[in-house]
Amino acid sequence: MQLGDSRLLRQQAYIDGAWADAADGSRFEVRNPADGSVLASVPDMGAAETRRAIDAAAAALPAWRARTAKERAAVLRKWFELIMAHQEDLAVLMTSEQGKPLAEARGEVAYGASFIEWFAEEGKRVYGDVIPAHGADKRILVLKEPIGVVAAITPWNFPIAMITRKAGPALAAGCTMVIKPAEDTPLCALALAELAERAGLPKAVLNIVTTMKAAEVGGELTSNPIVRKVSFTGSTEVGKLLMRQSADTVKKVALELGGNAPFIVFDDADLDAAVAGAMASKYRNAGQTCVCANRLLVQDGIYDAFAARLAEAVAKLKVGPGLSGDVQQGPLINAEAIAKVEELLGDAVEKGAKIVCGGKRHALGGTFFEPTIVTGVTPAMRVAREEIFGPVAPLFRFHTEEEAIRMANDTEFGLAAYFYARDIARVWRVAEGLEYGIVGINEGIISTEVAPFGGVKESGIGREGSKYGIDDFVEIKYLCMGGI
Ligand code: ADP
Repeated sequence: MQLGDSRLLRQQAYIDGAWADAADGSRFEVRNPADGSVLASVPDMGAAETRRAIDAAAAALPAWRARTAKERAAVLRKWFELIMAHQEDLAVLMTSEQGKPLAEARGEVAYGASFIEWFAEEGKRVYGDVIPAHGADKRILVLKEPIGVVAAITPWNFPIAMITRKAGPALAAGCTMVIKPAEDTPLCALALAELAERAGLPKAVLNIVTTMKAAEVGGELTSNPIVRKVSFTGSTEVGKLLMRQSADTVKKVALELGGNAPFIVFDDADLDAAVAGAMASKYRNAGQTCVCANRLLVQDGIYDAFAARLAEAVAKLKVGPGLSGDVQQGPLINAEAIAKVEELLGDAVEKGAKIVCGGKRHALGGTFFEPTIVTGVTPAMRVAREEIFGPVAPLFRFHTEEEAIRMANDTEFGLAAYFYARDIARVWRVAEGLEYGIVGINEGIISTEVAPFGGVKESGIGREGSKYGIDDFVEIKYLCMGGI
């Protein structure tokens, strides 16, 4: 891995404004999923170091929240500019530890940076209220104040954006933070901290605890009374656990959890657009995003035509190590990920699904998997219920609009849904009928810093990005002034 600025490769955690090792000196290795090579090692910290980070964040809170929003915005703006100035290095670092193609990694760096830029601006507009009072001698005011010390636990599929989407609004609102990045991708998080320091972020406003002992560190972050909010992106299972653990100290929780996104193609859809949307939504990041199309529901009349066109597009996907030239699909993150994809696919085939293309591990070996399409998929198969998180597109057949909406909603998840149709009345009916937090209509890519991202049902609580994204990091205080 060649970085223009070698100081972006940090191999220590970042606590209280200093690069730090675990108290007992233990470390763990970070590997490149494309070839299994060791890229670096970072400290394997535990509860004691996490407590130190929380205490440091608490000590830094009064001065940071006392700054004007404009002063905080200036630091965040600088951070944004530094991230963009180092876009190429950060992309190389990301592809190296995460596996996604370099072009996608560059895109994520820009997407991730956009949250810092957006919230640097939005932080200036955290307005309060003056409410007409209930008595002539009284005045009522509403203040919005930073919630306090925030803990963030983030996943490996977007190693930069899932951090900035939380850090942008938290820091802009005047909160301080402790972040635990995923064990597969700590290097991007540490590079962000290096750039934050260069941007002039005061000591201990942002702390990064690296660890393999996620349960131990998560236990401290959720039980420590100083932490006022836990913001988590990851699996539904871990999200539920963190919510339970946070109950004892009544912390606010924000959860961005799993999805089971339906991608519905109606008879009246523009087929070319639907195929392009499905490609973007399904195969981006090798299918490893929580908004990836998980079930492609296709209306009877165009089912075969859609399957054939999708197969043509999939055949053009180039699979390979993300750093090597014009590649559109990298490896999966690790051995468990590829085992899960194989298991789900095996279950579908056993129950009668037919493989149209792909269907097995890629000749490149390691964790590379062939881009795959399966037809004849039914609700009895596991892919109908479980998140695939891999490059497999299962095609379900439906006949009527009502059936499509019923199938789409038949899941405990409710993050993203997509549909392709041209009839405007149908567009409204389906958009309103889908029980999802995000709906892409004739559009396969829905992520942007200007819109609220988040799910309903068991896909989560809260919204990230947009003017709504900062709400999660402020508390409302009401002042009642009497005797006037
Ligand atoms: P995935 O299956 O995508 O890896 P996880 O929910 O396991 O999703 O991981 C998301 C984040 O949650 C990672 O940072 C991981 O280390 C962390 N994590 C996993 N288990 C726990 C736990 N018991 N407590 C706190 N954090 C955890």
